[in-house]
Amino acid sequence: MAGAVARLRLQDRRALMMPAGYGLLGLYLLGYLAWLIVRGSDQSWPLFGSWTVAGFEIFVSLLCVARGLTARSGRAVPVTLGLGLLLWALGDLILAVESQGGVEPPTPSLADAFYLGFFPLTYVAVVLFMRGEVRRLATPSWLDGAVAGAGAAAVCAAFVFHGVLHAAGGGTAATATNIAYPVSDLLLLSLVVGGSTLMSGRRKAPWLLIVAGIAINVVGDTANLFHSSLGRSGLILDAIAWPASILLMSMAVWLRPRPINPLVAQKPTTFLIPGLSASGALVVVLAGNLQEISRVAVALATVTLVLAGLRLIRSVRAMRALSQERQHQSITDELTGLNNRRFLSTVLDAFFADYDQSAPGSRGLACLFVDLDHFKDINDTYGHLAGDQVLKQLGPRLTACLRAEDLLVRLGGDEFVVLLLDADADYAVVVAQRLTEVLAEPFTLSLTQASVGARIGIALAPTDATDAHSLLWCADIAMYRAKLAGSPYVCYHHDRDLIGNRMQLLAELQTAIDEHHLFLHYQPQLDLRSGRIVSVECLVRWQHRKLGVVPPLDFLPFAEEAGLMGQITALVLSDAITQCAEWRDQGIVLTISVNISPTNLLDPQFVPLVEHLLDRHGVPASALILELTETSVISDFERSQQVIQELLDVGVFVSVDDFGAGFTSLAYLSTLAVKELKLDRTLVSPLSGGANPRDLELVRSTIELGHALGLRIVAEGIEDGATLEVLSALGCDLGQGYFIGRPTVASQLAVASPAPLPGFLPIAS
Ligand code: C2E
Ligand code: MG
Ligand code: MG
Repeated sequence: MAGAVARLRLQDRRALMMPAGYGLLGLYLLGYLAWLIVRGSDQSWPLFGSWTVAGFEIFVSLLCVARGLTARSGRAVPVTLGLGLLLWALGDLILAVESQGGVEPPTPSLADAFYLGFFPLTYVAVVLFMRGEVRRLATPSWLDGAVAGAGAAAVCAAFVFHGVLHAAGGGTAATATNIAYPVSDLLLLSLVVGGSTLMSGRRKAPWLLIVAGIAINVVGDTANLFHSSLGRSGLILDAIAWPASILLMSMAVWLRPRPINPLVAQKPTTFLIPGLSASGALVVVLAGNLQEISRVAVALATVTLVLAGLRLIRSVRAMRALSQERQHQSITDELTGLNNRRFLSTVLDAFFADYDQSAPGSRGLACLFVDLDHFKDINDTYGHLAGDQVLKQLGPRLTACLRAEDLLVRLGGDEFVVLLLDADADYAVVVAQRLTEVLAEPFTLSLTQASVGARIGIALAPTDATDAHSLLWCADIAMYRAKLAGSPYVCYHHDRDLIGNRMQLLAELQTAIDEHHLFLHYQPQLDLRSGRIVSVECLVRWQHRKLGVVPPLDFLPFAEEAGLMGQITALVLSDAITQCAEWRDQGIVLTISVNISPTNLLDPQFVPLVEHLLDRHGVPASALILELTETSVISDFERSQQVIQELLDVGVFVSVDDFGAGFTSLAYLSTLAVKELKLDRTLVSPLSGGANPRDLELVRSTIELGHALGLRIVAEGIEDGATLEVLSALGCDLGQGYFIGRPTVASQLAVASPAPLPGFLPIAS
């Protein structure tokens, strides 16, 4: 522990050393500046003499090189930059030697060779630095950089070159040397301005220090060039600029760039610098017409404007492509690539706007509203990625059933719409049949296959509706009717009974609940060992004043959707427990099975309600079984697990209904505190009349596994004696089905007679 703390302190100390060291060097520089300002014209002091300053520069350059040599990666930039700085510092040292004794060194001198050696190394370092930061750039960004750099060069050339040509005197070598400085500075400046454009919006601190260093260097060089006209301040600038510039650039390589935060979107590069540069270039070109400006400057300005023009062309193209892309995205469903609801509205609005009912031969339109069955089950059982896979495969499959001029649209979720132009009801039905067929074929998922069916509602324009909203509404109503009727597709009919009108249906259902027009049928369950009726399943019906008795699957989905399941279950439970109590009073002891819905499990008042009703009628909890369908248990597994346990704690058993209709394994369900398993009709009905060995084996192993898990097995949908026989031979506990007894009102239920049913061979116990 103490060792770790000591190590940490050592690391802290090391981390502090560099900033502290550079801080001291900065202080020295400030002292030097102060001395430059206050000193007399011929005063000298060894601490700030040319030798000492050259030594300072050499030390700082070596620090930069040292950074490169000690770094684990990214060595090229500090080493190249450091060597560049070192060349300049050595130039200063040589100049100090050459100027000893007040001698004016020749132009060019050896020091010039070192000074000028600084530039190529620094160009390389700057380019390497930018490449490290900006790896992948689109052409417009490079163009922005080029516009910015060339524009800056043009503006500087306009000011500087004129002065240079005047300032530079002497022979060819001297002129070339004098021109080499501003030209090299100009290049460096344009590189840095262009680079700043590319780097805008990125990690900044090290780059800003390099830019500041180069800017100070350019200022120093300019001051050097014009120091005769600038006077004393020019001399001070010239003297301080280089050590300051070297210090900043050396510091830059030690700064650690802040890591990019991937959660924050990077700011796009701005057009400010290129914009200013291009404007500057324009001014240079205009000014070139009015007064004498260096040709180099005019040429650079012209290049800048050409580049800006290219950039403009790229931008216009990019804007056009972007707006096309946006337009495409706005009408496309991202997952399936099909058109979306917005596109559908546009198409329908355009159709109806153009539609003239009075014109002879006006075009008709068929609208097919497709709603997938069991899609939620796939999402719940296999996950949303599997659901997505189904939806993606669906588009090409459905499109293959359509003509090129027809339109397929994903409305959202598992709802699709097909528009058939110039189609009548007959053609719409043909297409609906084709769609039903292709949707019935299984979909391939990563590890398995899954099946979805669909219900299709068909509405026609102008027969059923004359505007977009009504057409979709009619097709939607027809689709719901298809769901209710259990038909694959249904055509909308204006004057059909109220069941087509969902709003009216729901209002009536609420009234039916309030006025108790819901009643129960009871279906007997036979103990396959004793041959006695030992329990009944309670099945709700709606006594409708016009439609007669409405079966549960025709109205329960609506009730579920409208949030009426709580009220319906309360009513059913109350009736069933009341009836159970009445039978018990008559000496008929039966267990009652009541179906409950997944939404009941979400209601915290549900378990207390069950307890209250049992208590009120004096019925023991063991006389009540609550049936939950397999899919509803799986869709909210944790909540189901909790409520099932709570019910078990009060003595009420839970049964998993319709087992085998979904995709769940028995082992998965075994983690629930359920006590009974009801084999779905789809497993049971194949057993009738010479069942094939695989079906038989499936039921046999399910029963065996269920028993091994301590579950009672009930077989549903027994429609003949043969099935009953097979099931009893396989060891099934209870049987239910039309063969044993159809669901009926309590008064007609033949429970009093325990006699074995015809064709039933009770197993001797
Ligand atoms: P379920 O719980 O699986 O009920 C069995 C269904 O199969 C009943 O249909 C019954 O009439 C039918 N059935 C029974 N034996 C046979 C047979 O031998 N052959 C055939 N083909 N069918 C048979 P029903 O009464 O139409 O009920 C359908 C579903 O409605 C029920 O399926 C249950 O899930 C739901 N349900 C019924 N009553 C209620 C209720 O009070 N609450 C809730 N939440 N759901 C209910
Ligand atoms: Mg049931
Ligand atoms: Mg069932």
